[in-house]
Formats: sequence, structure tokens, C-alpha cells
Amino acid sequence: MTDIRTGFGYDIHRLVEGEYLLLCRVRIPSDKMIDAHSDGDIVLHALAQSLFSALGLDDIGTYFPDTVNETAGMASVLLVEKALKEMEKRNYHLTNVALAIQLQSPKLADYKPKIKESLSHILALDEERIAVHANTGEHLGPIGEGKGIACYCVTTIVKD
Ligand code: MG
Repeated sequence: MTDIRTGFGYDIHRLVEGEYLLLCRVRIPSDKMIDAHSDGDIVLHALAQSLFSALGLDDIGTYFPDTVNETAGMASVLLVEKALKEMEKRNYHLTNVALAIQLQSPKLADYKPKIKESLSHILALDEERIAVHANTGEHLGPIGEGKGIACYCVTTIVKD
């Protein structure tokens, strides 16, 4: 029987005054930036969390606590690399990534291809296996008021 697993990841961060947003290593011009202990790349946080969950592992905060100096300003791609390593150790491979980013502004339509390309490169996964969706907060709640950004990520992994 094929061993197929689904992972789910979620993250939310505050937005503060800045010059760009970092989404999957893509710099998006903005008058805000993501407030975080690490480099704040929320897409990669949600993605790593999703992979950890597919493997039945604990959340990223367990492996990379945001209360210690070692993770200050850390490149979030390291979280994903750790998750991929754990996946390979268990003989699984990634077949699909579905991402949803929730941000009031700027509109991400023009940047989605770049985000997808970057993800494809990081994960060594065909772009047609990656979906990058974006929604505003419809002016509702903290995200709609431009105070924060959230990201949801579902991954599918299959045993080799
Ligand atoms: Mg985070």
C-alpha cells in the first residue's frame, strides 16, 4: 500500500515599519517588514511546520526556539532544510505544496510566480506541484488592518 501523508503548517507575524517583505526569499517592496526573531520569512516557517507535521514531528519552535541567541536573525531556509533532511531520513519525498498567504497589502499577484520559482528551487520540486495563493484580509481583523501577515501550508509526502 502506498504510504501517503499530509502535513499542515500555519504561521502569523506582526508587521512593522520597514522597506520590504521577505516571502520565500523574494523581497517584495513595501513600507512594512515582518517582525520576527529570525529573518521572518513566514512562508518558509509555515512550509517547514507543514513538513514536520507530515512526519508526525513536533512544531518548529521545539527545534528552533525563538528565545535563544542561536536563532536570532536566522535564515529561515535552514528550517526547511532541516525538515527536508528529516523527511529523507525516513525515506519520504515531497509531491505537492499548497500555500495560502494572507496579507492586506501589497497585492501579491505580480510576485506569486517569483515565490513559486524560489520554492521550486529550494525544494527541488517541479513548479506544477506547487500552488501559491494569496488573499487579502478583506479589511477585517488585524490582517485586514495591515497589522500582520499569515501563511497556511499543506504538503503531501509519499514513502519511496
Ligand atoms: Mg514564524
